[in-house]
Amino acid sequence: QSQELSQARIDYHVALQALQEHGTRMVCTGKMHTDRICRFDYLCYSSEAEEFVFFHSNFSVMLPNLGSRRFQPALLDLSSVEDHNTQYFNFLELPAAALKFMPKPVFVPDVTLILNRFNPDNLMHVFHDDLLPAFYTMNQYSDLDDEARLVFMEGWAEGPHFDLYRLLSSKQPLLKEQLRNFGKLMCFTKSYIGLSKMTTWYQYGFVQPQGPKANILVSGNEIRQFSRALMEKMNITRGEEAEKDGGSAEDEKVKEKKDDYIVLFSRSTTRLILNEAELIMALAQEFQMRVVTVSLEEQSFPSIVQTISCASVLVSMHGAQLITSLFLPRGAAVVELFPFAVNPEQYTPYKTLASLPGMDLHYISWRNTKEENTITHPDRPWEQGGIAHLEKEEQERILTNKEVPRHLCCRNPEWLFRIYQDTLVDIPSFLEVLKEGMKTKPSLKKAKPSTTVYPGRVREPQCQTSVQTTNDAKLTVSWQIPWNLKYLKVKEVKYEVWIQEQGENTYMPFILPQQNYTFSENIKPFTTYLVWVRCIFNKNLLGPFADVLMCKT
Ligand code: UDP
Repeated sequence: QSQELSQARIDYHVALQALQEHGTRMVCTGKMHTDRICRFDYLCYSSEAEEFVFFHSNFSVMLPNLGSRRFQPALLDLSSVEDHNTQYFNFLELPAAALKFMPKPVFVPDVTLILNRFNPDNLMHVFHDDLLPAFYTMNQYSDLDDEARLVFMEGWAEGPHFDLYRLLSSKQPLLKEQLRNFGKLMCFTKSYIGLSKMTTWYQYGFVQPQGPKANILVSGNEIRQFSRALMEKMNITRGEEAEKDGGSAEDEKVKEKKDDYIVLFSRSTTRLILNEAELIMALAQEFQMRVVTVSLEEQSFPSIVQTISCASVLVSMHGAQLITSLFLPRGAAVVELFPFAVNPEQYTPYKTLASLPGMDLHYISWRNTKEENTITHPDRPWEQGGIAHLEKEEQERILTNKEVPRHLCCRNPEWLFRIYQDTLVDIPSFLEVLKEGMKTKPSLKKAKPSTTVYPGRVREPQCQTSVQTTNDAKLTVSWQIPWNLKYLKVKEVKYEVWIQEQGENTYMPFILPQQNYTFSENIKPFTTYLVWVRCIFNKNLLGPFADVLMCKT
């Protein structure tokens, strides 16, 4: 034990000396505060000041070196929500010499990921804003492994879903309030600050009404890899996926029929389905399937995931619990219900998720269009949709309006009033929507989505020209197949050729099945044509263009 202690003391001494001599070092990725993640050696945190501290010495590095642009508006976003002014990160600066006058630093030996959780009370936010981004940020940096330490700086308590955050690494995550237990000055030997936004698909409406992000960069594949990793950590094994076991198609059909079930995700406190029992009966009868009910109030999260991971259909009122559709098997359907006066097209976090390429989920929405089937709660507190605090006229306007107009996040009283209604689901209209929606449900068995592979460039593109008469010329373009094609089974291979007369703004596009073609229509003698060629797999997988050809007739 004394060995260990002295080791610790030597380490401490070395660490302190390194901090004093080398100061803090920072190297970041990203051009803007919104896409930046920074890696630090010896970044410190003063729990007294509640500030991070960068110590300058002759050996310090600060890249990017932004000067005071570091405050315009910040060095980086601490949460995955873009450019939110409550989520900015910055540090204070001090000369390393100031350490002499400061409390003795405590060193954190673990490689640390420092971030803000955005809204740890809400399951949708937990997954979309925190877990997925943290998971893939950790994937990005190899030293953020299973031994990494997470530090949550947003200042909230653990919250109801802390067990989920615990799955990200084997070490207990630290909360901001716990940092003071480590002393007045804490120094992180190695740390990363910020979260990748690469996996997020939804923006919550801070600057424009909520909706899918403009440039979604994640596909179903990455979502499913994440879900699988999380399920493994929760010790959940999905009942063998039908596609993986070797039985005949007939066997599979029989087995599937027997095992098929629908999950109704129920909410027990707000935004209720008032006739759940009736809905369950109708579903069971219509689809001849078992209907299983789950709710966050009744089951543990892992047991809910277990149930959902083998379900054929997930039915739920709009709400955060629908984020669990990321655990559904491929080919399953998500059915989202909306209360009266709420337009499903304007609240699409779960539709967007289900529709990500490669997510392979079928999405259907139903909305209550019958005002007599809604129960409003005007007298509740405002955050649960109450409107009693508003002026009479405003209350009247909200009560008579039949659809919530577009609005920004987060406290629009009309939106809250409508979204927190309870609903008596009209069974005939619900089944109608469901039957109609299921008609277009793609059968996964038929169109087995092979992994999407794009064509390479066509090779050795060439052109040959000849002049026929003073008015007519010919242009022959030929090329070789892309290099990767010979290793692939592709249903349909086509080529696209663009021909543009030099100096013109327009071009003529052609789609061809073969590897050469002679163009004679509209080809003029003694003219220069620019020719682009690319390969297309299965109608919509566009490859890159080969280098442009200059063809003189
Ligand atoms: N929640 C729940 N049962 C309820 C109401 C809410 O489990 O009856 C959960 C919900 O899944 C979410 C959190 O409580 O994780 C906050 O719910 P809220 O209605 O505020 O948010 P929303 O579901 O609209 O995102």
